[in-house]
Amino acid sequence: MDANKLKNSQYLVPELLRMKINFKLLSLFSLTIILLAFSKPVCDDVWGFYGHRLINRMAVFTMPPELIGFFKKNIDYMAEHAVDPDKRRYATKHEGVRHYIDIDMWDKIPFPNVPRDFEEAIIKHCKVMLITGKDSVYFEKKITNDSIFFTTDYIGGVILRMDYPTFVKYWKKVVKPMYYEDEWRLSGYDLDELFNTSYFRANKVDVLIEDHFSEHGIVPYHLEATLYKLTKAFENKDKATILRISAEFGHYISDAHVLCTPLSIITVNLQIR
Ligand SMILES: [Zn+2]
Repeated sequence: MDANKLKNSQYLVPELLRMKINFKLLSLFSLTIILLAFSKPVCDDVWGFYGHRLINRMAVFTMPPELIGFFKKNIDYMAEHAVDPDKRRYATKHEGVRHYIDIDMWDKIPFPNVPRDFEEAIIKHCKVMLITGKDSVYFEKKITNDSIFFTTDYIGGVILRMDYPTFVKYWKKVVKPMYYEDEWRLSGYDLDELFNTSYFRANKVDVLIEDHFSEHGIVPYHLEATLYKLTKAFENKDKATILRISAEFGHYISDAHVLCTPLSIITVNLQIR
């Protein structure tokens, strides 16, 4: 496909149901989390080690009857390991952002424009750069209810449109696994597959994706991911993993409750039955 054909093309792909988290799987706790968005420099380690240990110790006594015996037996472990996430906070750049969210960056209470799905939040705030030869240029990105558009004046002006749910599905399959890599690159081969063209590979065009969401904190999304792991550990009756993840879960929930300035409050009800 040449540039003219690519210009204004629309690639319509059948509508797929958007993936939703199956909360029934997350069947351990019923939580009401008040997330207090805060500025990172003020709020680092605000609970301190003593606070985190105390919170985890007290949390054991709020467990339902089916669980309290197990956690009481391991209450010292729960308290001692409440601080593990802070201990490794500077071991990797990916750990620090799990402890907070500067949600004021994105919206106002009740934050209707902050996607509840982590990948969709990243898609919304990422930058996409086209790279070919010596040239690199950012795409303009626009998301509507059912479509995502990438446009650039480069190569005579390109408008790429794709069904949004299909794009999210592709993202979760191909881009999501790159989360911990330094560079998120889609090759011409990937792009031709995504947009059903033969243009990108023929013209040696790659795309680089820059995540500009995670750097402002991801604690509510990390809680959800942690809860999923905890559920799996329960399903596998893996006591060591249950304890380790429970202790860390308590840490992140505590961090999510930190009150700092600027004041912003979001109440997230995770109804988990
Ligand atoms: Zn922390």
